[in-house]
Formats: sequence, structure tokens, C-alpha cells
Amino acid sequence: MKIYNTLTRQLDTFVPNEEKKVKLYTCGPTVYHFAHIGNLRSYIHEDILEKYLRYSGYDVDRAMNITDVGHLTSDGDEGDDKMVNSAKKEQKTVLDIARFYTDAFFEDCEKLNIRKPDTIVPATTQIDNYIKMITKLFEDGYAYMAGGNVYFDTSKLENYYVLNNNNERDMIIGAREDVTADENKKNKSDFVLWFTKSKFDDQELKWDSPWGYGYPGWHIECSAISINHLGEYLDIHCGGVDNIFPHHTNEIAQSEAYLGHKWCNYWFHVQHLNMGSEKMSKSKGGILTVNTLIENGYEPLAYRYFVLSSHYRKSLEFSYDNLAGAQNAYQKLKGRIAKLSKEEMPLSEEEYNKFKAQFAEAMDDDFNTSLAITTIYDLMKSEANDYTKRRLIDEFDTVLSLDLTKEVEAATVENEAEILALIEERNEAKKAKNYARADEIRNGLLEKGIRLIDTKEGTNYELVK
Ligand code: AMP
Ligand code: ZN
Repeated sequence: MKIYNTLTRQLDTFVPNEEKKVKLYTCGPTVYHFAHIGNLRSYIHEDILEKYLRYSGYDVDRAMNITDVGHLTSDGDEGDDKMVNSAKKEQKTVLDIARFYTDAFFEDCEKLNIRKPDTIVPATTQIDNYIKMITKLFEDGYAYMAGGNVYFDTSKLENYYVLNNNNERDMIIGAREDVTADENKKNKSDFVLWFTKSKFDDQELKWDSPWGYGYPGWHIECSAISINHLGEYLDIHCGGVDNIFPHHTNEIAQSEAYLGHKWCNYWFHVQHLNMGSEKMSKSKGGILTVNTLIENGYEPLAYRYFVLSSHYRKSLEFSYDNLAGAQNAYQKLKGRIAKLSKEEMPLSEEEYNKFKAQFAEAMDDDFNTSLAITTIYDLMKSEANDYTKRRLIDEFDTVLSLDLTKEVEAATVENEAEILALIEERNEAKKAKNYARADEIRNGLLEKGIRLIDTKEGTNYELVK
């Protein structure tokens, strides 16, 4: 299996530290807002990575954090905490905001068939681990205190920019548009490990620490959570490309300084989803969520199909036209698969082996999901019998998770009264601003193959094939 490794800047053959076992870490969402479909593009490809490793016989142990403290508006050490801003805006506590958007994130993941990682760790539950790590970094001379904050001293490292080919200026210009000089820092690339009240007075969540009452920096969260849950040797770390600098660069700096040895062998990064040539971003607004897609008549899995039709290392341009094309292709493919006979027949062995090998070849080549989907089209056209086709598609779908052989029971006229009653209830819920119930009704019907269409004249429905 070949995987493009940001650390070596080449396709590397994947060899885990322990035979047939993979330790995988994923940067989780910052839960101050709904995840947008760009974020979810990253999580879909990370889900494919995990599932293909499992399909290939690896036992995968995967951990993911939930960033509910410390992620500032600049990605670096400037600005306010994103969670605090959101809590103020919505007049809720930070923990309420975190709970609400964490639940919303996993609901979106479920709609997109993204598996929940084995271990999910909210950053606010790990304060003791950050303190333990920062204490050792102090003892070993990697940390210093200035202006009330604890900083990591990047000049103590031989090579801080390991992920960026030492291209320091490019990375700084590329990733940090709003950097202002922090006079406390000894070196401009130093970053905060622990903030205290001396810098930000309005942080809602703070904890006691040897360096004062305060809160952790964003980067230390992922290092500590990963080391604590997956151990000192990590096989693969993943995230979107915007995480390469400063987040992952800083994670490597502090983790390896703390451990005293190399930490993670493979760095997997997903390119951005763009809209109108700009990356989709929560902080810039104008984002689309899974629910917006549903409201516009798209199936979440048609979006998954759209995402899998292009390579994860290429940026992907979103438009409703592109999505409509994908949905059309997806529904047609499902329609053709539904017509395959369900009768048991002897396996067409030669064809079975041939297409299994073709699928593995595509996926082993740095997870080429688009070619993996092409394999299904080739299979459908082939001489293999229907039983063999179904069986292979079921196997491939344990990775692609497009519900290709799952058939929704078609709605019938007998249950029309029930559908109309639910439409009525949804209208009432919307009037009462109970959007959660309204969405629940819409999504519940969609799962049964009934899609609601809102028009000026009222709500109609259509049957999804
Ligand atoms: P956040 O919730 O901002 O911490 O981001 C969650 C994940 O989404 C991270 O892995 C980001 O790198 C990734 N991400 C952010 N924006 C995009 C985008 N437009 N396209 C793909 N991935 C993204
Ligand atoms: Zn992270």
C-alpha cells in the first residue's frame, strides 16, 4: 500500500510499527459551529483511509479529539478563543455550545456513513495530561515563561519546519494572514503551550496549573491526547492541509521534544474543498452544511459519491451543478445495482479475483477512490454473474460506504396519509421555530425514500429510487 507522506514529500510504502496494527490519529472538529461540507470532505477521506486499512487486514486503533478550548481565531496565538466568541454570540455557555455542535457533528457523520473513531476525547477532559507534558518540556529546557504565558522554544530544535521543507517564509505568509508580532516570544515561530489570565481575561474555562490559572494552547491538545491514548509511536496522523502549519508542525515539535524520539511516521493531508475558488471556511462564513444539501434536495451519500470521485490530494471545486451531476450518476448506479438478481449462484471465480485485484490496485495507489468507483462500473459491464457482482460490490462498499446495495423500501400510496400528517407536523414545527423537529421529520422521511420539496405553494414529496 502506497501512501503520500507529507513528511517525506513522496509516495511511501506503508509499514506500521507493529505488524498488522495501525495507530491512527485524527484532528477532530473545533465545535463552535456546524461542520461545513469542506470539513466533512476531510473526514470522508480519513474514513476511507481507516476503512481501507481494515479491509486490508489491519487492526486499526483510532483516536480523535474534540477541540472545545484553545483554538484561537488566527490558528496561531492571536485573537480570541473561537468557542468563547460563539458562546457569546449564542448566549450560551462554552460547554453547551460544545455539546450541541459535537452532537451535530456526529449526526452529520452518520448521514455521510463516516464511522465514529474508537476513541473520542474532548480537549477539556485532558488538562492533567497537558500539565504533565508541559512540566517535562520545562524540565528539559524546551519551554519558557514570558508575559504570563508558557511558550515552546523552537530554537532548541534542529529542524522545526520538518513538514514544510524548511520553507519558513512561504509557510508563514501562506498560513497566517493576520499575524501580529508577539513581543514575549524569543523566536517568531515559538508558540503558546499554556495561556494564563494575563493575556485573555474573558476565557470562560480555566484551570489551575503550575504556571497560573489558565488554559492550554490548541496544539498541545492533540499531542497529549494522541500520546495518552495511542502511545509513544504513532503510525498515521491525518487532517486537512491547513493543519500542516502551524498545527501539525507544532505538534511534532512538542511531541518529539517530550518523547525524545521520532513520534509519527506518516502524515496524511486532505486538500480543500473550494467554493468559487476560495476554500470553504467556518470563520469566513458562506458555508454549506449537510442539512443545507438535504434542504436543496440532495442525498448526503450523493455528496460522499461526489467527494470520492476525485483524489484527496487535489482540491475540489464545489458547485450545485457538480453535485447534481454526481447525484444523477450515483442514483443511476444504485438503480442498476438494484436490478441485479438476488439469487444465489456459484461465484464467477476468475472475475471475482480480477475485480478484487483491480479495486486493491486502485486503493493501494494512495487511495485512488475515483478509480475504485470505476472498478464498479467495469464490474457491472463484465460477464460476471449477478451474484458475483453483488458480492464484490458489498465487499467494496465496506470501504466506500455508499450503501450501493441497500434498497430503500419505496413509499406506497397506503402510507400517504402518514406522509401528509408528517408534512403538516413539520409545517407546525417550523412555525414554532422548532427546526430540530422539522429537520428530524424531513430526514426521517428521506431515510424511508421520501424526499420533501418545499415550494411557494406548499410542501410536496417525491419518491427516491
Ligand atoms: P476545524 O473544525 O476548523 O478544526 O477543522 C476540521 C477539519 O476540517 C480539519 O482537519 C481541517 O483541516 C479540515 N478543513 C477545514 N476547511 C476545509 C476545507 N475547505 N476543505 C477540506 N477540509 C477542511
Ligand atoms: Zn490536531
